[in-house]
Amino acid sequence: MSKTVGIPKGLLYYDFYPMWKTFFEGVGSKVVVSQDTNKKILDEGVKNCVEDACLPVKTYVGHVINLKEKNVDYIFIPRVVSVERKKYLCSKFLGLPDFIKSLIGDLPPIIDIEINYYKNNDKFTQNEFIKIGRMFGKTKDQSLKAYFKATHQQKKFESLLKEGLTNLEALKVWEGKNLVKEESNYDLKIAVIAHPYDIMDEYISMGIIEKLKNMGAQVYTMEMLERDLILEGVSMLSKEMFWNYERDILGAGLYFLKQKNVDGVIMVSAFGCGPNSMTEELLERIYKREKEVPFMLITIDEHSGEAGIMTRLEAFTDLLRFNKKAVMV
Ligand code: SF4
Repeated sequence: MSKTVGIPKGLLYYDFYPMWKTFFEGVGSKVVVSQDTNKKILDEGVKNCVEDACLPVKTYVGHVINLKEKNVDYIFIPRVVSVERKKYLCSKFLGLPDFIKSLIGDLPPIIDIEINYYKNNDKFTQNEFIKIGRMFGKTKDQSLKAYFKATHQQKKFESLLKEGLTNLEALKVWEGKNLVKEESNYDLKIAVIAHPYDIMDEYISMGIIEKLKNMGAQVYTMEMLERDLILEGVSMLSKEMFWNYERDILGAGLYFLKQKNVDGVIMVSAFGCGPNSMTEELLERIYKREKEVPFMLITIDEHSGEAGIMTRLEAFTDLLRFNKKAVMV
């Protein structure tokens, strides 16, 4: 019988699930994903994590506990150092497997390979995936075949994002599910910029994207932008950003500001996020200084209330509509 590998539905799940799932199935295992975030998962995460961790890491801890309860044979918690040449991820990702092991006892074996594309050399990460293949009795060639199939599926998923789907929608399409047909009579365009795991987790973000759509806004996320547009935006800064997600947040924020092709920009940030404490401050200052596009910062934490978020979104969309009318008069 195939061994089961649990993948926690948090952090980079929203960016790399197609690759990871395809690879694990390619080496003959069965993938089990934790449940969608709910109160129990978040409460368990908060209870078992250190207090000063960021909200997405606390939530991730809850997902690992959920998988432990499902009695999977392994849990995949990679040490993701870099997903792009000469760029790093936040240090939380670098120590994630050790951090989780130190918090939760009696876990099934953790598959904690290192994912590291810093040197633009696929070889290092390929070898790490070959190590996984070996655990499942596969030869180097069989593992490489699974790896290349996985990277191909990942590219398919990423091209769906560039067609204008959010990560959640792209994941659904990638899995062959149908999307609910959307109303197309949006009268506002709003960019929502954030780490994908902050806004794609509908429980911790309280469904910000769906709420905005229901309020008549077409939503754009930074993943929908082509890389050269992100780089165009970030070129307005005098220094290079070495974290790739923060580079993307700043690049997208500055691109929308320069192009003025949206009515407003919302940045969603998780409480306790070190890198975001810098990017949100920087973006907020630049938007305030330029006064060209309305900007709102929403910080989410485990205590955020839905009513509070709703009020802020309603106030923001009202303001954007008021601005549009004022320009038309
Ligand atoms: S970037 Fe921020 S939110 Fe993401 S893991 Fe690091 S500290 Fe947490």
